[in-house]
This record gives sequence, structure tokens and C-alpha cells, in this order.
Amino acid sequence: MTGRSIIVWCLATLVVLTGIASARIPRELSEILNPDEQQLLDRMQHDLHLSGIEIWPVKDFRPRAISFTNAETGIYIIEFDVEWFRSLPAQGRKGLLGHELGHAHQPDDVMKPVIADLAADRFAAIYSGPESVIAFLNVLAQDDWFDKNDIRTRIKYMEHVRTHQRPLQKRQN
Ligand SMILES: [Zn+2]
Repeated sequence: MTGRSIIVWCLATLVVLTGIASARIPRELSEILNPDEQQLLDRMQHDLHLSGIEIWPVKDFRPRAISFTNAETGIYIIEFDVEWFRSLPAQGRKGLLGHELGHAHQPDDVMKPVIADLAADRFAAIYSGPESVIAFLNVLAQDDWFDKNDIRTRIKYMEHVRTHQRPLQKRQN
């Protein structure tokens, strides 16, 4: 190969690799979230001491959203169905974000996943209010993929929180 064809070959490879990478590269948060939601995410990221948050959009994804920490980078990843997210009522979008960040706070109990979900809902309620969580749970309740009993339990719990919620105290530093 001549020097020139090696360069052309390298460039072509680079283009292909960039194409493959971009399929997995997270989209800019600002493309998906409005400023309000972005602010909410920033606050939770700060409080949870996460080194970053990325959203990985996926299509036709059940259970709609999952989240996990990239152990290598410490970046928290929320993988979700963006079209579905956009279809949620405004309040429900906040509830979902709070819920997913709540999973960063509470490790999953694989035996009783609903407990992890209750804890994640509780976390969300602190940041965006129980109403926002109920708004997204009402959407899940219409979806046969989800266990109706689990969703009912979660809605009931949020109704309880709504009734008995105490004002938050600012931490004294
Ligand atoms: Zn969950």
C-alpha cells in the first residue's frame, strides 16, 4: 500500500468506527430534557455525589427505563425509551427521573424488586413531590407489561407519602 492509500484506509476505518460508536454514544441531555428537568437532574447528581449522568436512548424498550452505574467511570447511566418519555405528562417525566436516580441511592433487592422501586419512588417524591411519581405510575398502570399489584402498591405508598409528607429540613453545615 502506498502512504496515501494507508491514510485513506485509516480515514475510512475511522469513519466506520465513529459510526459504530455513535450508535451507543449518549445523546446530549439538553436534546431530551427541558431546563427544569435538567436542573432537577443536576440537583440529584450533586446530592448523590455522582460524577456524571448520561442518558442512553433506546427504542421500544421494556421496562421503559433502567439505570446503573458504569463502574469504570462512575457515571450514572439511565437507559430509556425516549419516545415514551416524551409522551409522559410533564409531572410524570420528573417523577421518572427522580425514580431512576433513586436507584442510584438504593441498591436493588433482586428477591423483592418492588422494595427497590418503593425506595426509588420515595427518593423521587423528596425531589419532585409524590404527585410527580403518581403521574408516571398511572401511565405504568395502563401498561400490561407491568405487574398490576406492584404498581398498585407503589401508588398506594405515594398516596400515603402525599398525606403524611413532612416539610424537608435543610441540612446544617
Ligand atoms: Zn425502578
